[in-house]
Amino acid sequence: MAKSVTVIGAGIVGVCCALHLQREGFKVRLVEKGEPGMKASFGNSGSFGTASCVPFAMPGVLKKVPKMLFDSSSPLKLRWSHVPSALPWFLRFIAAARPSRVEEIAAARNSLLVHTHAGYAPLIEGADAKQWVKDDGLMMLFESEETFQNAAYALDLRRRNGVHMDILDGNEARQMEPALSTRIIKAVSLPDVNRTIDPWRLCDSLAKDFVRRGGEIVNAEVRGFEIGGDGPTKIVTDRGLLDVEIVVLAAGVWSRPLAKQLGTSVPLEAERGYHVMFAGQDFGLRRALVSADRNVSLAHMHEGIRATGVAEFAAPDAPADMRIADMIARQAKELVPGLKGEPASKWMGPRPSHPDSKPVIGRSPRHKNVFFAFGHDHLGLTMAGITGKLVAELATGKPTTVDLAPFRPDRF
Ligand SMILES: Cc1cc2nc3c(=O)[nH]c(=O)nc-3n(C[C@H](O)[C@H](O)[C@H](O)COP(=O)(O)OP(=O)(O)OC[C@H]3O[C@@H](n4cnc5c(N)ncnc54)[C@H](O)[C@@H]3O)c2cc1C
Repeated sequence: MAKSVTVIGAGIVGVCCALHLQREGFKVRLVEKGEPGMKASFGNSGSFGTASCVPFAMPGVLKKVPKMLFDSSSPLKLRWSHVPSALPWFLRFIAAARPSRVEEIAAARNSLLVHTHAGYAPLIEGADAKQWVKDDGLMMLFESEETFQNAAYALDLRRRNGVHMDILDGNEARQMEPALSTRIIKAVSLPDVNRTIDPWRLCDSLAKDFVRRGGEIVNAEVRGFEIGGDGPTKIVTDRGLLDVEIVVLAAGVWSRPLAKQLGTSVPLEAERGYHVMFAGQDFGLRRALVSADRNVSLAHMHEGIRATGVAEFAAPDAPADMRIADMIARQAKELVPGLKGEPASKWMGPRPSHPDSKPVIGRSPRHKNVFFAFGHDHLGLTMAGITGKLVAELATGKPTTVDLAPFRPDRF
């Protein structure tokens, strides 16, 4: 009899875990409290950020953060009611900005990123979902020499981690992306970055493929566990008890309280990002665009142009503040002056973030039959495929493709 695995959470990470486990011969069940792919995985920027080894805590962050918190146009927001909860996270974040740690974290992130395509290729092919993926690359945009100089260390870190980059002046950038504003004086082209033109449709196609291959999606909210001598034997849901043999916790930012019930504390916070969609507008944009000055990203999606940005620290389910989305819309119009009108829709989703910019991927320190796969911050779409492959390798007892020591659940 095939062993059964219950994956908690059907965001992009849980769905990729489920598909890889299925390919290893496990009987797999996904338990999802809402619809697959409708939380953080719904509205992201869509980039497979293979060039994004640079962590979020960088040297000098201690000087920048206080100023950013008081600047209304800053991409960093913190709800004051959330300060007591977020403070320990920020202290760890600052500690992770030491130069030696930054180098180590970048190498660890890169060890996953180099397997992005290998982690996804069989899943995308198997689900016949290639129409949602493009290989047009990404361009970072700079509006002043000063911003470009400020990015020198991050660019060097990428280069040293083997990322292919081409430095362009403003005119060269506009030749490649004619819709760009004349404010752009420098750009960095990252041709190896792929993207999806609809993160939700990609996740949904993969979830449907999982079901087509015999997988089960149970619509229920996991509330707790019944623990026996060898780990959890049942999960407690709002719809009753489910027997479990092996459990994978992949519930995005909501993994924290469930991990705690399983005996592991993790500093996981919601770094809430926003998007606006300009429907029906195109301008021939091909690449994903990331503005260093404005901290917004722009991408031509299936249904129009999507602008994304901001890291707002607040409770994951607190109401969204759509004034933040309006700020993103204004910034997007500065980058692409042809962009007109009001956004057709606005959205907020919680990135599940650890202060050291690394996910947790590994076996639970307390229970042999539990695996953790969460906390992929800004890179959950990118890292989901390889995370799923690694979890499946762990569950079968095979050697893992990537050394998982930097991602241990008990590292904090
Ligand atoms: C604005 C923005 C832009 C981004 N851009 C990019 C990008 O370009 N590239 C990239 O790689 N990443 C990007 N990200 C990050 C990426 O979206 C996330 O890292 C990723 O979606 C996290 O996936 P997940 O499956 O871990 O979490 P989620 O998608 O949040 O899924 C978790 C799932 O678990 C379910 N769940 C939670 N608790 C329970 C429970 N108790 N019982 C049952 N089910 C439960 C939830 O309903 C949810 O469906 C971006 C994020 C944002 C917000």
